[in-house]
Amino acid sequence: MNEGRIVKISGPLVVAEGMTDAKMFDVVRVSEKGLIGEIIELRGDRASIQVYEETGGLGPGEPVLSTGQTLSVELAPGMIESIYDGIQRPLTVIREKVGDYIVRGVHVPAIDRDKKWPFTPTAKPGDIVGPGDLLGVIEETVLVAHRIMVPPGIEGKIVELNEGKFTVEESIGRIETGEGVKDICMLQRWPVRRPRPFKKKLPPVEPLITGQRVIDAFFPVSKGGTACIPGPFGSGKTVIQHQLAKWADADIVIFIGCGERGNEMTNVLMEFPELKDPRSGEPLMKRTVMVANTSNMPVAAREASVYTGITIGEYFRDMGYRVAVMADSTSRWAEAMREISGRLEEMPGEEGYPAYLGTRIAEFYERAGKVICLGSDQREGAMTVIGSVSPPGGDLSDPVVQATLRVARVFWSLEDLLAFQRHFPAISWLNSYSLYLDELEEYLKREVDERMPEERRRAMRLLQQEADLQDVVKLIGVDALSPENRLILITARSIREDFLHQIAFDEVDTYTSLKKQFKLLNIILVMHDAAREALTHGAPIDKLQGLRVREEIARAKYTPESRVTEIDRIKEKIEAEIEELLKTEEIDA
Ligand code: ADP
Repeated sequence: MNEGRIVKISGPLVVAEGMTDAKMFDVVRVSEKGLIGEIIELRGDRASIQVYEETGGLGPGEPVLSTGQTLSVELAPGMIESIYDGIQRPLTVIREKVGDYIVRGVHVPAIDRDKKWPFTPTAKPGDIVGPGDLLGVIEETVLVAHRIMVPPGIEGKIVELNEGKFTVEESIGRIETGEGVKDICMLQRWPVRRPRPFKKKLPPVEPLITGQRVIDAFFPVSKGGTACIPGPFGSGKTVIQHQLAKWADADIVIFIGCGERGNEMTNVLMEFPELKDPRSGEPLMKRTVMVANTSNMPVAAREASVYTGITIGEYFRDMGYRVAVMADSTSRWAEAMREISGRLEEMPGEEGYPAYLGTRIAEFYERAGKVICLGSDQREGAMTVIGSVSPPGGDLSDPVVQATLRVARVFWSLEDLLAFQRHFPAISWLNSYSLYLDELEEYLKREVDERMPEERRRAMRLLQQEADLQDVVKLIGVDALSPENRLILITARSIREDFLHQIAFDEVDTYTSLKKQFKLLNIILVMHDAAREALTHGAPIDKLQGLRVREEIARAKYTPESRVTEIDRIKEKIEAEIEELLKTEEIDA
């Protein structure tokens, strides 16, 4: 390879000339220090390079060498529990080696080269295999069985496959291909900017069950779907993210942290590894990979981190797992794009963001999906992508938010006003939406209850009516409303307080199964219908509001999952109390 020379340095961007053999997106080593960079513009032999390490102290004339490879991640056992930076350098290993600050040009492999993993074959000699076929399995952690797949581009007959302990680079067996016999090891590489292949995309007809009522019942996301969440400071974004990571029915969690201020990320790096997996009691990290940019890393690494994270997610999806990718915050990623674009002196689009902002964001979310994986066993994998946005001043007309809303199909509108009122999760029932409702209807009817979609629609309608009525109440007061309209306010309040409000820190309330969600919502609507009926028989609204059974409806969410059928019994009490009320009223009359 020809060596180029630096001619210009502008922050994270270095321009080099004499790069005659280099290609677009090649990874390069900059200066004697060997800083890692990537070619993002090439004109003749003049390359613009975004450098993933601090460029301070570099000067013109220093050498730049192309590696001839594109920016790739290493994929093999050993990723789970890791905390990587944007270009997959293992932060924990580096810290042990050189201390808290990444020394420039440190090269530590993403995956431990010395560790031996006990490999159990699931295929056997004589089998004809192709890309994605399963060869065997490694117990990577107590929670993750790492499935070893035939790497892309390899096809043929297994001639040897061994049980035993291997490092990721040692041969576990051999496959006879059209181009001769090839050794197979567990380590794969994949270029991060290219989506990993699969056989077929499947429709998003199954919900990602999170146990969070406002999400599952009102604004659900599909497995393999996409969601966007803004997070004004103090609105409870961290709590929601932790709840999703802990409770969503995903096998693997990938957390991509794009922080700006140092402390934002430090908190994440401190808190996330402390979380417990509620189902197994093990640390959540035993099924998590983190990609994090701390404040002392240059913006270019932030730009790369979302690709690194999502590629690792796809790899686990390819094994047939359900993966949840959480990227926080994609606004910081977009800002990194803007800074680099500015230094390249590209024509700026809206608010200085590059014209390709929308395309990049769309490409990122489009990597989500439920798929039939490569391989002959028709296994299914899914990767759900949940991205947070943090627009300046919470302004949703911000270009990053707008570009995200065009592609993400769920919007959980986290609002600080609700958090001030101590309504948690502070997700607005009026401004949020899910475009998966139609696709999920069949599933909910089949797996939860025939009436679930209709009950949701009724509840949403009542909440909307409440919002309209509140405007009226502001003008003329609640007493001027008809009893029917006052009942709507009472029921809507019950939906908000007894159903949507959910305390993450309560042992029972922290998670609600879909079945229980249905029962809780149903009981509120049964109450509503019974009260409305009673109104027509002359029952006074104040007395209906004061029925004792309302207490029980309010407490129903604290019923443990093992005793959910008790919730149904509240119906009998509703009936009995209303009957009694009507009787006394008749006597009074
Ligand atoms: P942010 O990350 O948006 O700054 P946090 O997630 O740290 O905000 O939430 C702020 C506070 O709001 C928490 O410390 C907690 O007291 C409260 N909170 C947020 N969500 C919930 C919830 N679901 N249940 C109970 N309290 C919550």
